[in-house]
Amino acid sequence: MPGFEFFGEEEKKEVNEVLETGILMRYGFDGPRKGIWKSKELEEAICKTFGSEYAQLTSSGTAALTTAMAALGVGAGDEVIMPAFTFVASFEAVLSMGAIPVLVDIDESLTLAPDAVKAAITPKTKCIMPVHMCGSMADLDALKEICAQHHLILLEDACQSIGGTYKGKALGTIGDAGTFSFDFVKTITCGEGGVVMTNNKEVYVKSDAFTDHGHDHLGVDRGADLHPFLGYNFRISELHAAVGLGQIRKLATFLAIQKKHNLILRSYLEKVPGIQFRVVPDPAGDSYSFLSWFLPTKEQTEKVIEAMKSAGILAGNFYWYANNWHYIRKWDHLKTAKSLYALSEAQQKALTHLQTANFEKSDAIMSKCISTAISLIWTEEQVHEKGAKFLEVIQAALS
Ligand SMILES: *Cc1c(COP(=O)(O)O)cnc(C)c1O
Repeated sequence: MPGFEFFGEEEKKEVNEVLETGILMRYGFDGPRKGIWKSKELEEAICKTFGSEYAQLTSSGTAALTTAMAALGVGAGDEVIMPAFTFVASFEAVLSMGAIPVLVDIDESLTLAPDAVKAAITPKTKCIMPVHMCGSMADLDALKEICAQHHLILLEDACQSIGGTYKGKALGTIGDAGTFSFDFVKTITCGEGGVVMTNNKEVYVKSDAFTDHGHDHLGVDRGADLHPFLGYNFRISELHAAVGLGQIRKLATFLAIQKKHNLILRSYLEKVPGIQFRVVPDPAGDSYSFLSWFLPTKEQTEKVIEAMKSAGILAGNFYWYANNWHYIRKWDHLKTAKSLYALSEAQQKALTHLQTANFEKSDAIMSKCISTAISLIWTEEQVHEKGAKFLEVIQAALS
């Protein structure tokens, strides 16, 4: 997944062009910037690469989710249905809008289970937010149909699946809006950054202003801009956008390497009887940034994790079930609504409800799942060595 592994001359060249002019801000300073507009250039490259009509860069993926929800009109009291397996940013963004995160079960795709989504719909539901975890995608046809039936918004959190597709379209460009994160460990990085993608001009225009204090960007200079509504500062800087430009040009290379390494590793794991792989709703669209696999039981999975640890090969392998950042089981701060500032009563109620909510279905899946992060800098020989070592350690643990 991590583009930082291939940080190099391309990124330095782009950043140096910004440093030459000293104009680190993406708006204004038309004269002194001497025609250097890295953020605009990156937005154009994103539209072209992923087939999105519009793209609005932000300071992070979390800011991108927040911006997308604002532009889509998700706010106080609105319920947003999202998966119990995701990154904390997904519910942080929902809470920051005054909206209510409604966490529901995942299925073997490691993303939203469509029947769990249906069961969670109430008159307050406004938005369904699939999170395309670990490089692959949710069942978007099923979710789109639910959205159409119930007049709901579809917002894709595609922060972890840059370069993945569903039925020929880039993940993040299929819903009413979609987001990527360009934080340091994502498939391509800006250091920090994110983007809102949409094919809806109104959503884009609102996102553009929202990320810059509500500036309409229609004045002859910033001082002459009007403020049609309230906004925040979620701007990206030119330095960060410059890094992203260097990275996006290498994306095709990253994806090709991920696929190659992923498939080699998989060919070893396939030799272990009982190991199954994550369900990918459109197998042709996997970005291959992770290889996610299941052992037959929770006990065997724990045994394999221990064996991998003892053999010194656990790094880069994730047992999300026991992980603080990604699965509801360990989100005590969320379940006890520990907030620095007052949450609404409805938010507090929804969060404390999570203490007793039933996630047995997700537990059964997550407790048997291990995700292996695919590195770009392995040599082909190293991937084979890794695969052989995996096979040896896993088979010994299971025997
Ligand atoms: C990384 C990530 C985000 C947010 O990204 P930041 O840029 O770190 O704010 C949101 N959702 C998911 C699923 C992520 O993995």
